[in-house]
Amino acid sequence: MHVLILGGTGEARRLAGLLHGAEVAGLRVTSSLAGRVAAPRMPDGEVRVGGFGGAEGLAQWLRTHEVDALIDATHPFARTISFNAAAAAAAAHVPLLALRRPGWVPGEGDRWHPADSLDEAAALLPALGRRVFLTTGRMGLAAFAHLDQLWFLMRSVDAPEPPCPVRMEVLLDRGPFTLEGEREVLRRAAIDVLVTKDSGGAATSPKLTAAREAQIPVVVVRRPPVPDGVAVAATPEEAAAWVRQFSG
Ligand code: NAP
Repeated sequence: MHVLILGGTGEARRLAGLLHGAEVAGLRVTSSLAGRVAAPRMPDGEVRVGGFGGAEGLAQWLRTHEVDALIDATHPFARTISFNAAAAAAAAHVPLLALRRPGWVPGEGDRWHPADSLDEAAALLPALGRRVFLTTGRMGLAAFAHLDQLWFLMRSVDAPEPPCPVRMEVLLDRGPFTLEGEREVLRRAAIDVLVTKDSGGAATSPKLTAAREAQIPVVVVRRPPVPDGVAVAATPEEAAAWVRQFSG
């Protein structure tokens, strides 16, 4: 049995590790990475890197490599690949599961401002603060480039490319992050507003606690929907159980 995991997340790596270590007879696991990160953390098992060439390319890959089950374990905000996965799985008649960690939920004392897009997040910012901790990743910075009255601390794994905000400092770092570390970032840069995607998970959630403690408003970009009709698992363990049902 051949399982293809569309990866690029910690959950995808954990799932590859679970399936690899499960010693299910005849189980072959391939992880696919987009190739965005220069030095990605590598999952167990086989790995391929780079786009497939749209939904049709992915469907062709599923057929050529005799894939029996597809798991979309990409980031909740990786919208295109998730819709391509749904179309390709239907075309190639391969069962598909989406692995999506649950989103974050505001707690008491949180000052969250929901936004439906990066553009909407940018539009909210001038009324909320002047010194922005921007944690939405290096892609899509163009949405904030016109905000030349604001100062940004932009954190990402690899360096961003223009267009970017003019008044911006870059902090190259990769999670998981600690509460102590996040408090220090907010304090040292005198941050007065945080921008985040609703990525969910524990690896990057300490910034939310640090913002709550400092009573800093948080602009939270909502997730795109999972494609219609696609089954969803919340954890790598649930996804591994889904795979086992096919391996008899
Ligand atoms: P996207 O907009 O949904 O996808 C753009 C294109 O990148 C896809 O059409 C596909 O190219 C290729 N692609 C994406 N994920 C792939 C994968 N796992 N394997 C092979 N090709 C892939 O994706 P994105 O938001 O740029 O994210 C790219 C990767 O970074 C994903 O693997 C995701 O899990 C990870 N990531 C994303 C975010 C985020 O905030 N978006 C955060 C952390 C990690 P083709 O059409 O040519 O197949």
